[in-house]
Amino acid sequence: MNISEIITSYKEELGPDITLVAISKTKPVSDILEAYNAGQRIFGENKIQEMTEKWEALPKDIQWHMVGHVQTNKVKYMAPFVSLIHAVDSLKLLKEINKEAIKNNRSIDCLLQIKIAEEDSKFGISVEEAREILHSETYSKFTNVKVTGLMGMATFTNDMVQVKNEFEYLKTNFDTLQKKYPELKILSMGMSSDYKTAINCGSNMVRIGSSIFGERNTH
Ligand SMILES: *Cc1c(COP(=O)(O)O)cnc(C)c1O
Repeated sequence: MNISEIITSYKEELGPDITLVAISKTKPVSDILEAYNAGQRIFGENKIQEMTEKWEALPKDIQWHMVGHVQTNKVKYMAPFVSLIHAVDSLKLLKEINKEAIKNNRSIDCLLQIKIAEEDSKFGISVEEAREILHSETYSKFTNVKVTGLMGMATFTNDMVQVKNEFEYLKTNFDTLQKKYPELKILSMGMSSDYKTAINCGSNMVRIGSSIFGERNTH
């Protein structure tokens, strides 16, 4: 199948309630346009500079999601256009996003990345830290940044029981937090290799790269 056919089949499979973020990192603008022409409008990147270059080159009705780790000093480059930042892991970063959003006269939606994987390499904070952020007076005073959900990445393993346990853990905590903070609506979990498990565990946003655009050489 080509990119366009793959997009169409994912749209059918996911239906209206699960959002597909097409992860286009390292892939050329021509690939993104092919997906765009098949109706895809949400793309995800993990490097701010690469995302900014693609934003400049591509149609302006694309919604750009930053799914990678964000350095505070680079927020300013994406603040004019980013649609959702998936991997927020501190109050300090939220503060910077709020500041840059104000400068651009817009509001920026963010997800808190919760560490659910075993590996040390995965970024993210604990559920307890997420609760502290949402509860804090500092956060309540931010006018132009809004936490709209949670994101998690499962351990990179073939053991789908473990993956399922990690996703279920996040879903359970998402549900608990949502009762107190109804503005939490997005649960971003699931990639090419584990999106089916993620959906079974209650994900409503999947981030799929290699099974749409093919394997990447790097990352
Ligand atoms: C690269 C990436 C993905 C997509 O991974 P695939 O295995 O190619 O589907 C999803 N989420 C994040 C945070 C990524 O960096």
